[in-house]
Amino acid sequence: MFRNFKMVSYVVFGRGCFNQLDGILAKRRPSDDSFMVYMVDDVFQNDSLKNRVPVKNKDKLIWVNVDDEPKTTYVDALTQKIKDFSYRLPDGIIGIGGGSTMDLAKAVSLMLTNSGSSADYQGWDLVKNEAIYHVGIPTLSGTGAEVSRTTVLSGPEKKLGINSDFTVFDQILLDPELIAGAPKDQRFYTGMDCYIHCVESLNGTYLNAFSKAYGEKALELCREVFLGDGPDSDDKLMMASYCGGMSIAYSQVGICHALSYGLGFVLGIHHGIGNCIVFDYLEDYYSQGVREFREMMERHDIHLPRNLVAGVESDKLEKMVDVALVLEPLWENALGADWKQIMTRDKIKELYQKM
Ligand code: NAD
Ligand code: ZN
Repeated sequence: MFRNFKMVSYVVFGRGCFNQLDGILAKRRPSDDSFMVYMVDDVFQNDSLKNRVPVKNKDKLIWVNVDDEPKTTYVDALTQKIKDFSYRLPDGIIGIGGGSTMDLAKAVSLMLTNSGSSADYQGWDLVKNEAIYHVGIPTLSGTGAEVSRTTVLSGPEKKLGINSDFTVFDQILLDPELIAGAPKDQRFYTGMDCYIHCVESLNGTYLNAFSKAYGEKALELCREVFLGDGPDSDDKLMMASYCGGMSIAYSQVGICHALSYGLGFVLGIHHGIGNCIVFDYLEDYYSQGVREFREMMERHDIHLPRNLVAGVESDKLEKMVDVALVLEPLWENALGADWKQIMTRDKIKELYQKM
C-alpha cells in the first residue's frame, strides 16, 4: 500500500512575510469571543520580534522554554494552562520558534481536543479528534518539523512522536529573516539535521522517486549553504528544511536518527547536536555523507563534544539501546528487511561507546 499522506494546507514564503500573520489569522476569528494562543520560544523575550506578534485583546502569548526538548509532562501542563484561560477553546495555536517550539504547538493543538495525557498518543495514528487550527513559524531551519506529521516528545517510557494526519500544521509561514539571528553553532546543528535527513533518505531502502526528488534538492541546497556562502543562504536553508522534511515524509530516516534518539532520551542531548555526534561515527554506513559532513564542520569551525557515552552506567547504556531499537522502520530503511541480523545489541553498544 502506498502512503496517502497529509500535507500542510497553506504555505507563505518570503522575507518579511511574518507581517502577513495578522491578516491570515483575521479569517480565523469567527466571533467576538475568538482568541489565539501564541506559543513563542522564550529566547525572543527581549527581542524586537516580541512586538511584532499580532496579539489582539483576547489573545494570549505564552513564552515556552525549550532548554529541555519537549516532554509529555510539559505538553500536558501547557494544555491545561490554555484550557484555564477561558470557558471555550482557542481558535488557533501559533508556534514561533525552532523544532522544539513547533512540536510543542502541534502537540498542544492536538491535546486541546483529545482527552488524557499526550503520552497516551505517542505512536502511530492513535489520535482520535482533529486538532485546533495550528500554525508553524520556524526561527531555525533544518528539522522539517514545519512539514512533518509528527511531534517528537519524550515521555515516561520513550522518546517517540505523536504521528498523525491531525498533527500536520494547517498553515506555515516561512520567513527567512526570522532565522538570521540564530547562533552559529545552533544554526549548523539544526541545518545538519536536514543534511542527515537527506543522506539517510537517499541511502535508504525505502527510497522512491518522490523522496528522491525532494531529497536531492535539499541536499544540493545544504551544500550551497554549508560549503558555499551566498547572500541568500537563509532562504536556501529554509527551503532545504522544507524539502528535506518532504523527502523523509515519503521515506524514512536511518541509523543516525535511531541512535540519536537513544542519546537524547538518556543523556538529554538535543536532536541537532546529537545527530552530529552520532553521524561522525557512521562512516561505515554513510561514507560519502560523513566525509562531506566533516568538510562542512571544518569550514564552520564546529567542534563536537566527545566521550559522552564512554563512562556511562551500564543500565543507561542498555536503555539507550532499547530506545534506539524501538525505531524499527528506521533500521529497516537503513539496512533492509534483515536488519536484525546486521545490527545486534552488541553492535549498537559498540557504536555508542565510541561517542
Ligand atoms: P530547538 O527548537 O530545540 O532550539 C534550539 C535552541 O535554539 C533553543 O535554545 C532555542 O531557544 C534557540 N533558538 C531557536 N530559534 C532561535 C533564533 N532564531 N535565534 C536564537 N536562538 C534560537 O532547535 P531545533 O534544532 O530547531 O529543533 C530540535 C527539536 O525538533 C527537537 O526537539 C527534535 O526532537 C525536534 N524535531 C522534530 C521533528 C518533527 O518532524 N516534528 C523533526 C526533527 C526534529
Ligand atoms: Zn532529524
